[in-house]
Amino acid sequence: MGLARHYKGYHLGKSYFSYQTRIRTLAQQRGFAVNTLHPAPGEPLTILTRRSPKDVPSVYLSAGIHGNEPSGVFAIHDLLLEGALDEAFHWTILPCINVAGILAGTREHPSGIDLNRDFREPASPIIRALCDCIDSAMEPFDMAMHLHEDWEPGGFYLYELDSRPDAKSIGQAVIEEVGKNHPIAEAAEIDGHSAENGLIRPVVDPQTMKDGWPEAIYLTQGRCKINLTFETPSRMPISERIHMQSCAVKAALHALRTA
Ligand SMILES: [Zn+2]
Repeated sequence: MGLARHYKGYHLGKSYFSYQTRIRTLAQQRGFAVNTLHPAPGEPLTILTRRSPKDVPSVYLSAGIHGNEPSGVFAIHDLLLEGALDEAFHWTILPCINVAGILAGTREHPSGIDLNRDFREPASPIIRALCDCIDSAMEPFDMAMHLHEDWEPGGFYLYELDSRPDAKSIGQAVIEEVGKNHPIAEAAEIDGHSAENGLIRPVVDPQTMKDGWPEAIYLTQGRCKINLTFETPSRMPISERIHMQSCAVKAALHALRTA
């Protein structure tokens, strides 16, 4: 149940590095600059960037910060392959943040750190390198998408943090699009937050958060106006979870483009 970590001939435990090579090659073919943000031995952190020649919104996309949540890592492959990450946006993409966790199939990094709680005062050199990169951006990102998975709910859900006043909800548009072909989590409370038809708008005060900052909270601090965290249900087949992630990313891009 939900433990599969293989897709299209790649297994994240056994053949992660062939998969990483595939992603880097594909990104180069699509005109991205491919770099290693943190050259840790055995777990290099890959970053893909591309600036559009046009005056367009900038988008941040990340996956694989929790090593037991593979759907987003695979979805980035499919999105690159079909050309969905196009010149309508400037791009900053982290296709797999927690490489060592992905290799081991564990939520945390082998150091014991939950990388998605390490953004306030980073203890991990990987997250320190990522924060330095985010802070070196010339301007704030317009939208960030963080691809995650959850064992508990039976359907897709998302967290939306949007600081634009009176803006039309991009999260709502994503739920509507994903819901056409996939189940949406029905619970009125998910992970301690109240949810409405799979949409959570968490009320959080970063200054009093006890567990450390997730990537999305770090970005809300003047670094990005719209933060969407997508959660696919780990109990469903991996191929369907990958479709959900791809569908959610494309729906959010469409909503941003037409906002
Ligand atoms: Zn996660």
